[in-house]
Parts: sequence; structure tokens; C-alpha cells
Amino acid sequence: MTIRLYDTLSRAKKPVAPDARGRYSMYVCGPTVYGRAHIGNARPAVVFDLLRRLLVHVHGAGNVVYARNITDIDDKIMAKAVAEGVPIETITQRYEDFYLADMGALGVTPPDLAPHATQHVSGMIDMIGRLVDLGAAYAAEGHVLFNVDADADYGQLSRRPLKEMIAGARVEVAPYKKNPADFVLWKPSRDDQPGWDSPWGRGRPGWHIECSAMIEAELGTTISIHGGGLDLQFPHHENELAQSRCAHGGAPLADIWMHNGFLSMGSEKMSKSLGNVVGVEDLLDAGWHGEVLRLVLLSTNYRQPLEWTLDKLEQARQTLTKWYGLLRSEDVTSALPAPAFVEALSDDLNVSKGIAVLHELSAKRELGQLLASAQLIGLLSMDPSLWMEQEGIAASGFIVPEVSIDDEIIARTAARARKDFAESDRIRDALAAAGIILEDGPGGTTWRRA
Ligand code: AMP
Ligand code: ZN
Repeated sequence: MTIRLYDTLSRAKKPVAPDARGRYSMYVCGPTVYGRAHIGNARPAVVFDLLRRLLVHVHGAGNVVYARNITDIDDKIMAKAVAEGVPIETITQRYEDFYLADMGALGVTPPDLAPHATQHVSGMIDMIGRLVDLGAAYAAEGHVLFNVDADADYGQLSRRPLKEMIAGARVEVAPYKKNPADFVLWKPSRDDQPGWDSPWGRGRPGWHIECSAMIEAELGTTISIHGGGLDLQFPHHENELAQSRCAHGGAPLADIWMHNGFLSMGSEKMSKSLGNVVGVEDLLDAGWHGEVLRLVLLSTNYRQPLEWTLDKLEQARQTLTKWYGLLRSEDVTSALPAPAFVEALSDDLNVSKGIAVLHELSAKRELGQLLASAQLIGLLSMDPSLWMEQEGIAASGFIVPEVSIDDEIIARTAARARKDFAESDRIRDALAAAGIILEDGPGGTTWRRA
């Protein structure tokens, strides 16, 4: 079975190939650990966990190596440490622990390698030094900048207009830039800030160099797959790609570049800065099982935008309860995952097609194949009786997070304003099914639990 994946760089689907060491190597940019993960942050974690499981299924565990880094030095981490009056390690350890717990609840297996930026600073200094020697980087008042003119193909990954790339680079303050799109590799630290000694003075690395150096140290020059969210395409991945290519005499950093689409809520990308976030722990605390969240995250193909709605949660919960109910009440003979299911996943992780296969298997009562296929993607891993017991309790007093109720009310008010009564009724009924009753009054719509 050949796994084919859409490569952002060539804008085409490509077969996955092993790297020079004969391994299927994958590196995914992990979290910057200064706060709890929201459900949007969980999308890449779950999507690449799925890909890793598929690679292992097809090629064997010994031939797959998956690295996901922890960014544990960053200005936002430093600001949080100052605000709490604690060393940065207190912050980074706390939020790394939370991250692993939250992702674990979503069935995400820890990666084989979890390199931490602070453990790789000497490798970063070494790579920056090589870039300076090659003339691809230059020092300026304690800073080191990468000169984008050193890479003739700079901008190929994200294909942005030069104006946008300059605007992106302007966010990084530096003394002078030969080209306004140049970006920071190293910056100076004040005495009261975390820092490391370097040939350019005491300082700390910029964000992009971290992944290039860690990939070199942990995996090699060219890896099979490099992944992350769509927002990382530019500048982060564009810059990783350029500096690694220059440091390695033109060798590509990755054979395939993958980017998951955004998860949105209330029509905008879920992000801390917009304030429209729902924490993974909020959803779990509200009674949604991790497998329900995982199924919602997987049901929409990874490159498509995914709108987070109560409806999708409710539907996923019902689907899982239906399957667990079948598994509990009927005989299940052990089987391998259905070939049609593995085939769907192997076509650029076409999970929606895969889930259609699961529905067919369930309708035909091919429960052995249903179970093996679902478990391949991290679903149906619980004891069926336990699931039915837990969800049986939940069904009578179901709690939904208040932030999504408010969003649903806003969406319903908008639907009514445009006289889309089918939509407004659908929203009211979906909430009623989750035990939430809407009441329309002169001051607007309020809600109460049934
Ligand atoms: P961060 O900790 O903000 O660097 O994000 C960690 C990962 O989550 C990165 O791969 C981001 O691209 C991804 N990410 C952040 N917000 C979203 C979102 N709303 N939808 C999908 N992925 C996201
Ligand atoms: Zn990265």
C-alpha cells in the first residue's frame, strides 16, 4: 500500500518515501508552552498522530520515527514567568505536562522524540555560525539575521507576494536589515533575561532556527514529512526551509510539507488573540469524552477548514454510542482493518471516506473489521459496557460548554434575522437534544437547562 500525501511545496500529491537512513521520518512543530491548549491546537496533534498510526500500520513501528518539539524558550513564556515571578522552567514544565495530559485524553500517543529547544541551543549556535560563514547570515549589534537573498528560491513554499513577506518580517525588531524580509536567528538577552553565551554575545535563539537545528540533530538532513498548522507555512516553515537548505548545500529539509487547515468557531479562526477559544480541558470537564472530540477533529479532512459546533459534537457522540452499543451486544470476531478503510486513509488521509466505510461495516455488522479499523485511528478503544454506562449517565444530564451555547444563540439570532427559519429551528432542536432550552424574550434569547 502506497501512502500518498499532498505536498504544499509542489502543490501535488506525492508518495511517501523513506529518508536516507531508510526510515519514514516525520517532524511536526509542537506547542509553545505558556498556556493550556485550545481545541484548535489539538487539530495538528490529532491529525499527525493519525498519520503516524497509518505509517506504522503500513511500514511497521521500527521503520517510523516521529518527532514533535517543545518550544520552551520564547518571549511569551518569558513574559508569563515575569508576571508570576518564577523561572521559565516553572512555566514550561507546567504547560508541557498539561499539553501531554490534554492530548493524551484525545488519544494522541506521545511522539518517539520530543526535543526541547533549550536542550539544543548549542546546535542552533553551530548552525547559525555555519550560515554566517557561508555568507547567508550576518551579525548586527548582538543580533544575527538570515539574509533571504542567499536563497534564490525563498518564498516558494508559501508563495506570498514579497510585500507580505516584508510585512511578516517587520514584526521582528532588529537593528538593520540588508533586505527588509530578513529574519532573526539570534537576539541579545538583557542580564535579567534567560540567555546563552554565543560568538555574538549572550542571547537567545529566534524561533525558526530551533526546528532546523533539532531536525538536523534528531533526524538528519532531509526528512520524509514535515508538518504543522496552516499558520506555520509563513513565516515559520518558509524560514526553516531556507536556512536548512543553505546550511546543507541545497539539500531539501523535507520531501513532503503538510499543513492542516484551521479550526474555526463563530466564523473566525480559533485563536487566543481573538478570544474565541475553547480549551480541551473545558470540553472534557463539560462531559465530552476524548473520543468524541477526536472523532469531530478527524471527521473533516485535515486540509479543509473545520467549524467547531455543538451539532458536530452531538453527532460524533451518537455515532460512537451506536458503534459501542453494537460491540457490546453482538459477537465480535477479531479481524484486520478493512482494506477499503486503509486505502481511503492512504489517499492523503481521506478520513471522511474512511468513516463512510466504517458506517458501511456497521450496517453490514462486520464488527471485527469495524473495531480494527476504528482502533487504527484511535477510536473505539474503550470497553463497550463502560462507554454505554458512562454515556447513559451523561445522556440524562448533559452539560455543554457555555461558550458554545452563546455561539449557537448568536448563530440562531442571525439565522432568524435573515428569515432562515429552517436553520434557526435546527439550532434550537440541537440544543434541546443536549438538554438546553432556549427562551425568546423582549431582551433577546436566554437559555436554561432542561
Ligand atoms: P501554537 O502553540 O500557537 O504555536 O500552536 C500549536 C499548533 O497548533 C501549530 O501547529 C498551529 O499551527 C496549530 N493551530 C493553532 N491554532 C489553530 C487553529 N485554530 N486550527 C488549527 N490549527 C491551529
Ligand atoms: Zn517548527
